[in-house]
Amino acid sequence: MSTRFSRAVVTGGAGFLGSHLCEQLLRRGTGVMCLDNFLTGTPANISHLIGEPRFRLIKCDVTNFVHVPGPVDLVLHLASAASPADYLRLPIETLKVGSLGTLHALGLATEKGARFVLASTSEVYGDPQQHPQGESYWGNVNPVGPRSVYDEAKRYAEALTTAYRLSRGTDTAIVRIFNTYGPRMRPDDGRAIPTFIRQALAGEPLSVTGDGSQTRSVCYVDDTIRGILALAESDEPGPVNIGGPQELPVAELAATVLEVSGVPGSVRHIARPVDDPRVRRPDITLARELLNWEPQVQLRDGLARTIAWFRSQLCGADIGTYRPNKRAAYPDMAPSGT
Ligand code: NAD
Repeated sequence: MSTRFSRAVVTGGAGFLGSHLCEQLLRRGTGVMCLDNFLTGTPANISHLIGEPRFRLIKCDVTNFVHVPGPVDLVLHLASAASPADYLRLPIETLKVGSLGTLHALGLATEKGARFVLASTSEVYGDPQQHPQGESYWGNVNPVGPRSVYDEAKRYAEALTTAYRLSRGTDTAIVRIFNTYGPRMRPDDGRAIPTFIRQALAGEPLSVTGDGSQTRSVCYVDDTIRGILALAESDEPGPVNIGGPQELPVAELAATVLEVSGVPGSVRHIARPVDDPRVRRPDITLARELLNWEPQVQLRDGLARTIAWFRSQLCGADIGTYRPNKRAAYPDMAPSGT
């Protein structure tokens, strides 16, 4: 399948989702310029793309001025810490990339006349009082809670994107991504699935927060990427939810990881984080109707692929100390205007 885009800029392209997006765009015939400062991503995620004639990596911080020479017809703005462990450790960086980073990415899209897609999040719904969460729900976010650095940065980014659309005529879209899992997640990023897999493979008890009855709805990375690109290809402004509509308690997710990984294991309960959402499930009616999109990969299949990838990465490594995100010796690419 080819896209209508000749050259895309992907901010945060060396991250988990960004690297899969770069790969998929190249596969569909679109040239890719990946901008990343490797704050939470790693060059290792896209090292296999170096050498592709239509791929270029530029190490830069998008909260600084962003300049890209030549034509660009799509800007996918994914740069942002995304896991709670990362954004709690990097609160100011997270707010800056959601605000200044989004401003610069929107400026670039406007200057180039490119379509702009903001990677927003289900976290804009906060601890929701409406279930499942449809796009018309405004959310229930604590603006001074610890998670606000991420939630409010994304809410601001949505507002800024909308303002550019309405006042500058920029061709924008907002995708609200729900929990996604798959290869290239960091075992130490603190999100439930990579944590459970790392613990299962290390023979440690799986740490379930609270009593494990809080729910999550997860989506395999290939499905999420297909959804983001379907929105990019459309003329829809969004916001559109992209996520798995099958909801399950976190305790059941842990049990499924143990079952699919085939290792005997146990569970230990730890305290639930402050403002942790009780429930999470996307209403994907809009994505179905507007984009003809719905997830295709079943949980067990997605988990099997993810566990196989983790095994291949952790093979021979001391799982307890393994850090795939450590700064690889890597030459800085010539920063472009930053
Ligand atoms: P990630 O941490 O793996 O990737 C984010 C990337 O952005 C990293 O490579 C990081 O180095 C880069 N980055 C951060 N600040 C930057 C800056 N100032 N300049 C340049 N690059 C910068 O996270 P992810 O899971 O791939 O998430 C990607 C995007 O999707 C984020 O915007 C996130 O909010 C959104 N999202 C992800 C999920 C999910 O389940 N993975 C869910 C909802 C929303």
